[in-house]
Amino acid sequence: MDEIEVVCNIKLNMKSLEEFDRILLKNIEKVFYEINVVEFEKGYVVKINTKDTVKEFRYRKVEKLYDQVLLMVKNLLLQINKKNYKWGTLIGVRPSKLYRKFLEDGIFHEEIKVIFKEIYLVSEEKIELLKKIVEKELKYLNEDKINIYVGIPFCPTKCKYCSFASYELKGLHGKSYSKFVDTLLEEVKLSGSFLKNNKYEIESFYIGGGTPTILKENDLEKILKEIKENFDLSKMKEFTVEAGRIDTITYRKLEIMKKYGVQRISINPQTFNEKTLKRVNRYFDKNQFDDIYRKAKEMGFLINMDFIIGLPGETTEDILYTLENIKNYEIENLTIHTLALKKASNLFREGHIHEEINNVIIEEKINAITEEKKLNPYYMYRQKNTVEWGENIGYSVEGKESLFNIQIIEEAQSTFGLGGGAITKYVFKNDKGDIEIERIVNPKDPIVYINEVKDRFDKKVRLFSK
Ligand code: SF4
Repeated sequence: MDEIEVVCNIKLNMKSLEEFDRILLKNIEKVFYEINVVEFEKGYVVKINTKDTVKEFRYRKVEKLYDQVLLMVKNLLLQINKKNYKWGTLIGVRPSKLYRKFLEDGIFHEEIKVIFKEIYLVSEEKIELLKKIVEKELKYLNEDKINIYVGIPFCPTKCKYCSFASYELKGLHGKSYSKFVDTLLEEVKLSGSFLKNNKYEIESFYIGGGTPTILKENDLEKILKEIKENFDLSKMKEFTVEAGRIDTITYRKLEIMKKYGVQRISINPQTFNEKTLKRVNRYFDKNQFDDIYRKAKEMGFLINMDFIIGLPGETTEDILYTLENIKNYEIENLTIHTLALKKASNLFREGHIHEEINNVIIEEKINAITEEKKLNPYYMYRQKNTVEWGENIGYSVEGKESLFNIQIIEEAQSTFGLGGGAITKYVFKNDKGDIEIERIVNPKDPIVYINEVKDRFDKKVRLFSK
């Protein structure tokens, strides 16, 4: 990274500044900044000189604000570079977690608002969104329980924007499908009895991927049966299966899921423009989709639908058409993503550039639809490399919020992960009373997973036996 050169009279976290420069300042040519920091009893003065400007930021010391000087430097850099973002200097994935941390540190909403506005340069609209979401999430956070995630790393085809742990079933990795299922069954047995013997209370269970419904009907049944027999699900409040791709769902699979207690499914059109879906290598058929939706509704599943704003080739009109169509479905949860260009995706490799779309009109439409359908924001996260205004927001009708989604984004509860690419997180308080997280990642490549599952399981056991 050589687009930024800094000379400073104190030590700054250069890695963080370089990332900030790459993502938010986006300077093509190298820029030289001379930074001078003066600390006085009650505050700091940060002064930045560049070739053509001098800017200064003077601010009181804010208790509990970690790395305040670095934040002030970023504030000035954004101003010097005349960048104006709704999320200001924030590039983190979990702004709601940051907001909640301030609350937990005893800072009141009004003061948090000032910090976000004056130091992070976040817009009032986004601060309000965070406040709304955090107030809702606080009702559901439960650090005494755990959640379980199972990753099925196969899909019918690889969507061009995909950066998840997923392999085409008909490709090379698909050859390990049967061995993967057998290994997962073994991991389910071991994990279930370990957690049961150690009296862990499971609050939510989530099978994701990939596309879990790509499992053959008898394999889906075997896995769900094994889960039921080996995990103590007596206190579980929520059981979700991602059924994201319409080409993987059958009535029989819905019946199997129902039989084993699955309450929620996610069926994800991403867009209602079939041309776009073809372009991103994703099969879709509206009639088939409507049929599965109707059947799932009849069977009493709670339904989430995912959509992505910013898919390749989509105009503002295309996006508005999709949003208008959401009106036709009675869904409990809706998730709106902004397309993120991840390095692992084919789109990134193809050098895709985000289309110009009218964000204001699209945001207005999202607000109108969610209001009409009484869907309120209840969790959110951001991804690096999304188009500038973007974030991913989950909406829910009152009382039907997904506990798993909240816990995963807020990282307030431990996750025990099984299957391909599953991330286990052990959340605990250290000696100082601060929250720490230790992670163990299952290999996402099915072959490596099969070979290394025992090693990962032993590590998880050690972690959860602390
Ligand atoms: S369905 Fe999801 S996991 Fe599968 S390829 Fe598409 S984006 Fe990736």
